[in-house]
Amino acid sequence: MSKKVPYRFYLSEEQIPKEWYNMRADMKEQPDPMLNPTTLKPVTAEDLYPVFCTELAEQELDSTTRYFPIPDEILEFYRMYRPSPLIRAYNLEKALDTPAKIYYKFEGNNTSGSHKLNSAVAQAYYAKKQGLTGLTTETGAGQWGTALAEACAFFKIPLTVYMVKCSYEQKPFRRSVMQTFGAEIVPSPSTTTNAGRAILAENPDTGGSLGCAISEAVEKAVSTEGYRYVLGSVLNQVLLHQSIIGLEARKALEILDEYPDLIIGCAGGGSNLGGLIAPFVQDKLLGKASPRIIAVEPASCPSLTRGRYAYDFCDTGKITPLARMYTLGCQFVPSPNHAGGLRYHGMSPILSKLYHDGYMEAVAVEQTKVFEAATFFAKHETILPAPESAHAIRTAIDEALKCKESGEAKTILFGLTGTGFFDMTAYESYLNKTMTDYIPTDEDLERAFARLPEVPTV
Ligand SMILES: *Cc1c(COP(=O)(O)O)cnc(C)c1O
Repeated sequence: MSKKVPYRFYLSEEQIPKEWYNMRADMKEQPDPMLNPTTLKPVTAEDLYPVFCTELAEQELDSTTRYFPIPDEILEFYRMYRPSPLIRAYNLEKALDTPAKIYYKFEGNNTSGSHKLNSAVAQAYYAKKQGLTGLTTETGAGQWGTALAEACAFFKIPLTVYMVKCSYEQKPFRRSVMQTFGAEIVPSPSTTTNAGRAILAENPDTGGSLGCAISEAVEKAVSTEGYRYVLGSVLNQVLLHQSIIGLEARKALEILDEYPDLIIGCAGGGSNLGGLIAPFVQDKLLGKASPRIIAVEPASCPSLTRGRYAYDFCDTGKITPLARMYTLGCQFVPSPNHAGGLRYHGMSPILSKLYHDGYMEAVAVEQTKVFEAATFFAKHETILPAPESAHAIRTAIDEALKCKESGEAKTILFGLTGTGFFDMTAYESYLNKTMTDYIPTDEDLERAFARLPEVPTV
């Protein structure tokens, strides 16, 4: 018998991985290249330099370097809140009466309350190193903006955050946290950019969307000397930085003499999932192991399960490069009663390709079921999960219950990406039963697909 695994397992400081892992280096078939929207030619590093920091633009386009050494300054920062614990969900297992072994990697132990700090610190560091005078970004629920505000405060870089207007109004404390770290917050759409003004002219009462906030942030960055734009998800560079999650998890499991049969993560733009699964995907690509991988998305924003695998803009304002990904169309905005995060219209091109090629599965879950899982989890594991993370919890619970039926003692690993303290309006609507589920109709989706850009794919 192996000795009992502790509730919380931490790697030592020295065991924190010192390199990020780039899945593309092991993918036999590459994701389709990002295209310049004007020429429809693959984007070059030069195309990206006006928008992104130089080193980040290079990481974005690098599909051959397998491991990137993590710069010392970033490792130092990581040591302030990493390693994150790998937790054995003994109490959840008991409550479900399942033979499954459930592990989760908890990324909520920092002020941003999510995994987003892993990439924010990297992006702020490269900006500082390049001598940039400011950064812009967008934030939806606020975790990314908070993470970046923390990182920019540390490296002393001014930051402007375009915050999706409905979140700005619903989550005033998120706004205050970012302001505490010194960031300037602009509700989006705003009248400060052409993109914002155009969107307001078409739809003056809009609560905004991530895609629209991206357009504004990019416009502000390219039109301000010494500024660049940074993004908290979707991009290849972000998945690269987030690989720290999976690398730590795999190392910890190795020490515990475990290997997951099933890996589950929530998927908005795909960064936490891409990071969590990265080393396990490598095992799959190299034929060393074949864990099942499940992406969990909201039924109200089902880009993998119901989207098209097509070239699309990454933003509503149509100023970003085109990426081939599973998308609902960049004009798609989830129904206003959707409270659970993960609202982005597209999906990481790397994850889209892995899904397209059968390395990964996807399921869509309804938000009332997600909050049911969130409250159940909170009561047994004592962590109040972010609604986004609760998508993964929902599916982990469902899979553990299947194990109960079949009697299989599978090892399940899921990503608990963050905490939900700023999401109490959503919890409240679940608790007082005013929360509803909205699933877009095929007609809703067709309307958005009809506006996809026409780009020939081979
Ligand atoms: C942003 C966020 C997500 C979703 O983003 P991904 O890029 O898909 O990982 C999930 N969970 C939390 C807590 C978040 O803040």
